[in-house]
Amino acid sequence: MGSCVGLLHNAGRVLLDFAYPPYCVVCKADIEAVAILCARCWLAIEKAKSEHEHSTSDDLLCKSHIFKENIILGDFSGILQEAIYALKFHNQPRLGHELGRRMALWRAEHLASIDYLLPVPLHPARLRERGYNQSLQIASGLAAALGVPICNGLLHRRKNTRQQALLSAEERGDNLRGAFSQVGQLPVGARVGLVDDVLTTGATLQACAQALQTDRLSSIVLARAKGAS
Ligand SMILES: [Zn+2]
Repeated sequence: MGSCVGLLHNAGRVLLDFAYPPYCVVCKADIEAVAILCARCWLAIEKAKSEHEHSTSDDLLCKSHIFKENIILGDFSGILQEAIYALKFHNQPRLGHELGRRMALWRAEHLASIDYLLPVPLHPARLRERGYNQSLQIASGLAAALGVPICNGLLHRRKNTRQQALLSAEERGDNLRGAFSQVGQLPVGARVGLVDDVLTTGATLQACAQALQTDRLSSIVLARAKGAS
């Protein structure tokens, strides 16, 4: 009996360590499991954020006159890049929530007037593969800190598009044409924050915006890749 309890305890510990690794998922330093990243990595992300110029009207998305404002945490480099990589490819959905929650605190001034959060949807096939939508995880952290609702499901991804990172800027636009459609209505006059992980050419966010029946859109992304403006 005692050995059964021991086995169960060990199995529980393995599951817990899988869901809440007791080491930083970026630099592997020992941590309290709930922190996800070590204090040094969180500080590096916070510092990258303070060095990043908040972009508004000069940005490529604003030039297209679809987005009123782009709210960005930092550049897609260093620890922030590694954290986003872990979020997307190393099964770390909680990291998305925590990045969103901290972004809400660090960018509070710019996020204050957002009424609804709308994560960029994944195609169901991609969602099954990854097990979660990283943009929804980021939105859930933002929502928890800002106290605003998420309208997940308002945008439907109709096409299982090829991975954008493998395509040229021109191919990205073609790849996404007609990829999204709006399902349901947004309250009139609501300011919507469209949430994504990385802004590269802006093709994904623009394709979402074209499917939405609103002119009160802001983009909210964790990181902007170099050469994106
Ligand atoms: Zn670390």
